[in-house]
Amino acid sequence: TRVLLTGGSGFIAAHVLDILLKRGHSVVTTVRSYEKGEKIKAAYPDMSSDQLDFAIVEDIAREGAFAKAVVSDPPFQAVIHTASPFHFQVTDVKKDLLDPAIKGTTGLLQSIVKNAPSVKRVVITSSFSSIVNPYKGSWPEHTYSEEDWNPITREQAIESVPNGYRASKTFAERAAWDFVEQEKPNFTIATMCPPQVIGPVVHHLNSLDNLNTSNQIIRDMIQGKAKDKIPPNGTFTWVDVRDLALCHVLAIEKAEASNKRFFVVAGCFNNREIAEIVRKQYPEYKGVLPTAETPGGDYPDGGVYKVDNSRVQDALGVEWRSIEDCVRDTVKSLQAVGA
Ligand code: NDP
Repeated sequence: TRVLLTGGSGFIAAHVLDILLKRGHSVVTTVRSYEKGEKIKAAYPDMSSDQLDFAIVEDIAREGAFAKAVVSDPPFQAVIHTASPFHFQVTDVKKDLLDPAIKGTTGLLQSIVKNAPSVKRVVITSSFSSIVNPYKGSWPEHTYSEEDWNPITREQAIESVPNGYRASKTFAERAAWDFVEQEKPNFTIATMCPPQVIGPVVHHLNSLDNLNTSNQIIRDMIQGKAKDKIPPNGTFTWVDVRDLALCHVLAIEKAEASNKRFFVVAGCFNNREIAEIVRKQYPEYKGVLPTAETPGGDYPDGGVYKVDNSRVQDALGVEWRSIEDCVRDTVKSLQAVGA
């Protein structure tokens, strides 16, 4: 299959790209600059330009941003949309988070309708942010599934940066489902809703200071920043980036994934468990890691929500990597960047 992958320079996208190429798909990936595109190509020196190429889309929020990128010879059959801001260095929630997430998604879908009629499947990286109800807190009696939607409003979205991020994912995913309902396009969509994505870094990373958001807790621990207090969890659910990436690819390969929302979650975890795993697997960090006596990082008193990942297992058939394997491989990859 010929695939357009948006945001190829990102943490998750780099794994999606890797799996696409390994499974014999040919890929054009969008990046924001020529340099970023060249770095991706350099990571695959044996691939021809027919197998792997890039297109530049500087800002997905711009009108018509994808108008050219969706056109290819041979034409695309599938699109995987991962590009969306996921960081908290934000001054203007609307401009920095909501616009790129929402307009990036709807603009891409419009460009496919207009300029890429050969596309049959579109997979969109949404988030547990669009599922979770942050106003319910730890909600121990609840089991989250694809049935749940974050009820956040436009007003709440601009109250804080974390709200802004969660709203950006919620509104963008809703906009995608609304688009399909109203426009009845020639393609089906599938949305992937992962919680905290952890795993090895395979994208080009010049410094640990620029590490993607969801791996930062592990970096901070091995840099001694959690020694006196383990930080609280943002979410208590996680998935390995490699399993998530495989789900994206399976969703373009398997017809039964069409028009489904997937809660791609391996299970629950807390930051204290992460610290213990690193301590066991990497004795060299003993002096900088929190100990069993260090406060913080536990589940809330009374427990936490549960998760239902049966739809992913039934429709896509993935098996989940363990958090031990995930943390081990993540630390190893951070060491390669200089940790
Ligand atoms: P990264 O920050 O590594 O990747 C984000 C990608 O989006 C980068 O390639 C970035 O390009 C691109 N991007 C962001 N804003 C723009 C813009 N305005 N115009 C063009 N490109 C843009 O994060 P992840 O890999 O973690 O995130 C990928 C996707 O997964 C996002 O949709 C995110 O919301 C979602 N997600 C991630 C989770 C996680 O825990 N990691 C959890 C749930 C969902 P550049 O680097 O050049 O700025």
